[in-house]
Amino acid sequence: MVTNLDPYIIIMLFVMGSIFGSFLNVVIYRVPKNMSIVYPSSHCFSCKKKIPMKYNIPILGYFLLSGKCVFCLNRFPSRYAFIELITAIFTVIVYLIFNWNSLFFVYLTLTYLLIAVTFVDIDHFIIPNGFILFGLSVLIISLMLDVSLLGWEYSVSGSFVFAGFLFCIGLIGQFILKKESIGFGDVKLGLILGGFLGVEYSILALYLSFALSAIIIIVFYRGKLNSSDTKIPFGPYLAAGTLISLFTISPDGSNYILNWYYRTMF
Ligand SMILES: [Zn+2]
Repeated sequence: MVTNLDPYIIIMLFVMGSIFGSFLNVVIYRVPKNMSIVYPSSHCFSCKKKIPMKYNIPILGYFLLSGKCVFCLNRFPSRYAFIELITAIFTVIVYLIFNWNSLFFVYLTLTYLLIAVTFVDIDHFIIPNGFILFGLSVLIISLMLDVSLLGWEYSVSGSFVFAGFLFCIGLIGQFILKKESIGFGDVKLGLILGGFLGVEYSILALYLSFALSAIIIIVFYRGKLNSSDTKIPFGPYLAAGTLISLFTISPDGSNYILNWYYRTMF
């Protein structure tokens, strides 16, 4: 946990985060379409013209162009600026929790992966295998280099709890709703998330994911859940549950939500 805040570091991380956010926009758009993430550079979807360098500034670029292409005035979705903004904010939060050390880079990579998972799942109802392999590689390398909150055994047990629980809920959901409720992509993602979180944090993250999804389903999908064309991506809830669990780590290394739970329950 960072105690003395240096505003220059915060600003630098915010700017760095927004640049990564702009890269995540490219990943979110291109990976599900099996397009290259490096070439070509960003261009307008409508007139295909390359966006001039001076407008390619994350977050601000959107406002400089008032959300429109300079050439054909086609509107850019405000989601691009939103993703750049949350990536920037999350980068600062991960720094405030983990400080400048190798854990910062590992959990920042996980955070970026989860932002990409969230929006690809919302757009296409899939979690690309490329994302799963990337997350798994980061997990294994971090464990091999001993850059993790956990050791191997805690990490592996976390994976089993997280993925195992999702697998069982998926089976039950299939039985009750007679259609796929939790996809195999979610179970594979759970394997990775559990590995980063360990058992206790996995249970917290799962609890938060299901609680959040229940709220959203009651508010937005009431009565539509049984219809066969209602599809609800679960990746965003798993991502949110995981990030909330990590972002509520307290300065002494415990967790605010778990501390509150143990205080009220015992
Ligand atoms: Zn255009």
